[in-house]
Amino acid sequence: MTNIAFIGLGNMGNPMAANLVKAGLSVTGFDLVADNLELARAHGLSIAESAPGAVEGADVVITMLPAGQHVLSVYRDVLEKARAQTLFIDSSTIDVDSARQAHKLARDKGMLTVDAPVSGGVGGAEAGTLTFMAGGSDEAFRLAEPILDPMAGRIVHCGDGGAGQAAKICNNMILGISMIGVGEAFVLAEKLGLSHQALFDVASTSSGQCWSINTYCPVPGPVPTSPANNDYKPGFAAALMLKDLKLSQEAAQSAGVATPLGASAMQLYALFNAAGEGGTDFSGIINFLRGQEKK
Ligand code: NAD
Repeated sequence: MTNIAFIGLGNMGNPMAANLVKAGLSVTGFDLVADNLELARAHGLSIAESAPGAVEGADVVITMLPAGQHVLSVYRDVLEKARAQTLFIDSSTIDVDSARQAHKLARDKGMLTVDAPVSGGVGGAEAGTLTFMAGGSDEAFRLAEPILDPMAGRIVHCGDGGAGQAAKICNNMILGISMIGVGEAFVLAEKLGLSHQALFDVASTSSGQCWSINTYCPVPGPVPTSPANNDYKPGFAAALMLKDLKLSQEAAQSAGVATPLGASAMQLYALFNAAGEGGTDFSGIINFLRGQEKK
């Protein structure tokens, strides 16, 4: 049987690991937070006392951690304990430079590596319908695919090491920019006396259509499942959108590329977060644009 070490059992990692157990895989987990370990135990994971302890005897190591520094630190801790040719899959959303460093650290020790960040949020993690954006060699990806499958709705091989992270932050830069654009259009429409439904009916079927309006409309009414109908509870929290936009701007700077709308979107989400709205769904930025954010 394939033995999996799963490190980072937070909001995303815990349900993802639970789906691996449900698929019949043997999973040993580790996290720094005792409550997360208890939940993982209830999901059928074995619990290790440390990250290196989880990795001993593993064929695959999956990490789901907050940021690049955590991934690099865990890799440095565990690589000595891993067998050669162990498959390392990092599903955290991290900066492209750290992702490439993580690949190099592990490859230099004879490991196979894939960066495989996800979209789909906690709901997708629970349902096993995440989209994985993977970067790594053809051989590593071929081995990773059946491991990711129980957690996935879709798995896309985007290129070599770091390509998954690059795809993730480019996608989320589009999303941050488009949500602000849609929000501005609704605020303007209100001032012009146009109803939300009228703008939705036109834009969602015309050249203004995009995910931010068609699927995740930021005003209550036109799309009943969007967080706007649930007091802007996330969904996808504004704090995570700000994180991803910052990563996009770090990557743009590192690659010497001008992304002025990405930079503006990052600044607006920084102001929205600073107004105490980090825990609000990112579509709630429409209320900030209107000048009516919660106090
Ligand atoms: P989280 O904070 O709930 O979980 C991260 C976990 O990592 C925590 O439980 C923490 O204790 C653990 N951790 C940190 N350092 C550790 C270490 N050295 N050893 C072991 N465990 C350690 O975060 P999350 O929401 O699960 O997100 C995880 C990653 O997935 C992030 O990179 C995030 O950007 C990304 N992501 C999150 C969502 C979402 O909707 N929550 C969606 C897509 C991607």
